[in-house]
Amino acid sequence: MANTKYIFVTGGVVSSLGKGIVAASLGKLLQARGYKVTIQKLDPYINIDPGTLNPYEHGECYVTEDGRETDLDLGHYERFLNIPTSKANNITTGRIYQNVINKERKGDFLGKTVQIVPHITDEIKRNILFLGKTGRYDFVITEIGGTVGDIESLPFIESVRQLRWELGKHCLCVHLTYVPYIAAAKEVKTKPTQHSVKALQEQGVQPNILVLRTEKELPKAICHKVALFCNVDEDAVIQSYDVPSIYEVPVVLAKQNMDTIVLQKLGMPTDTQLDLTRWKKFLDNMKTATESVKIGLVGKYAELPDAYKSICESLLQAATYHHRKLDLRLIHSEKLNEKNVADLLSEMDGVIVAPGFGQRGIEGKFIALQYSREHDIPTFGICLGMQCMVIEFARNVLGYTDANSTEMDNTTPHKVIDLMEEQKNLTVMGGSMRLGAYDCRLEKDSKAYQAYKRDLVQERHRHRYEFNSEYKQQFETNGMHCTGINPETGLTEVVEIPALKWYLGTQFHPEYNSTVVNPNPLFMSFIEAAINK
Ligand code: GLN
Repeated sequence: MANTKYIFVTGGVVSSLGKGIVAASLGKLLQARGYKVTIQKLDPYINIDPGTLNPYEHGECYVTEDGRETDLDLGHYERFLNIPTSKANNITTGRIYQNVINKERKGDFLGKTVQIVPHITDEIKRNILFLGKTGRYDFVITEIGGTVGDIESLPFIESVRQLRWELGKHCLCVHLTYVPYIAAAKEVKTKPTQHSVKALQEQGVQPNILVLRTEKELPKAICHKVALFCNVDEDAVIQSYDVPSIYEVPVVLAKQNMDTIVLQKLGMPTDTQLDLTRWKKFLDNMKTATESVKIGLVGKYAELPDAYKSICESLLQAATYHHRKLDLRLIHSEKLNEKNVADLLSEMDGVIVAPGFGQRGIEGKFIALQYSREHDIPTFGICLGMQCMVIEFARNVLGYTDANSTEMDNTTPHKVIDLMEEQKNLTVMGGSMRLGAYDCRLEKDSKAYQAYKRDLVQERHRHRYEFNSEYKQQFETNGMHCTGINPETGLTEVVEIPALKWYLGTQFHPEYNSTVVNPNPLFMSFIEAAINK
């Protein structure tokens, strides 16, 4: 694969247009034609990674197998392409500057003034080309975060300009814009798109393909007008109109031959077959499902579903494979109390308790868990959710009313969840949790084993605290079993109450490992239990 092709995806007009979905969908189409594709995201903020950003700022933090905390778009890339991403797939301005400054301190630029051009742009280009140089990919799609015209994204766009010059016919640029409908005038407006393309052109980049985000399908004349004003071929003006599910976007783009146009523009053969059979089967299942499965997701970011993006998508995938619609209710853990818990949870087929950090909303999680445990509602606890399962059990079954995690109360005599040994002397917050994929050995007769159908699994982690194994014996004698253990460290990864229909908590995050064609076994098993409730 000496001739890896590079596709840049930029965005204009407004943010939140779904650039990540368009990049992932284009990647899907190229992959469905038999090509090897990877997608990376360049984020223009100064943080080294999004691990230190709260979900209000940035939605979910997605974790790669090799332990990088990344942008949630990487979750889309994996769910669409069904291949893992890595550290190399998400680079921020902060990391670029850090690398350049480290080199400067080492003396790599001795005698030279270190500047944005060429030193920062060289480092950006090195990162853009890195995945292509591994020889593993026919296509590297690079999504540039932010909106054209932002101060922050200037060095990235400048790097794209230089690379287009250097790579010549081996690269192309897709620009995503927004075409608003003005209800009062009953008209769609292309002016913002024209301005956005102008802004890109001013920075020296001419897009080859435009993707217009719009609520409704646009008349042909609109695409003609945009093509004319923006120096883009008319058939290369693609629409991405609103569809009920993000998983329909590849089909929308395929209908307009976006994959063929990309291949043509890159001088590649277009006679390969586009095979979306499994993908379309999934969409069919989604469209033809009539009955639903009702899941309550208890967390403190109930007003912000992006905080739980991968969990929501994993639930949707599993429900779809069980031919059900997903009826997902986000339940605010801060507003859940003893008085309303029955109203909120009794109707649910399953309850899932979300990951998280800190004290806020934690008491609501305990109340939810006590209710679902005592009423035998299928319940899934993830990371902090699993830790809450342990604490609730210690308080209400073992009788340790002061049991807690030392994250919430450092003085409790019953530290059933405690800081991991290697975390005790850490002073740096960024990138220092237990991160990435670790082995977990499952007990043969457990629900987890039945779900995975094998005893050794790898799932991804993001935490500092762990189940305190001093209490293991007491938990097991009283009905909560540790059914998944890390074979190297002995850390507890899975707890279950075997006497209940499905009551299972994982220290790891199975939601980071669930894709459209390969749903996660634990989510499959949880949804099955919920349906059978
Ligand atoms: N706050 C907990 C810990 O650090 C759980 C983290 C999480 O839910 N991702 O261990």
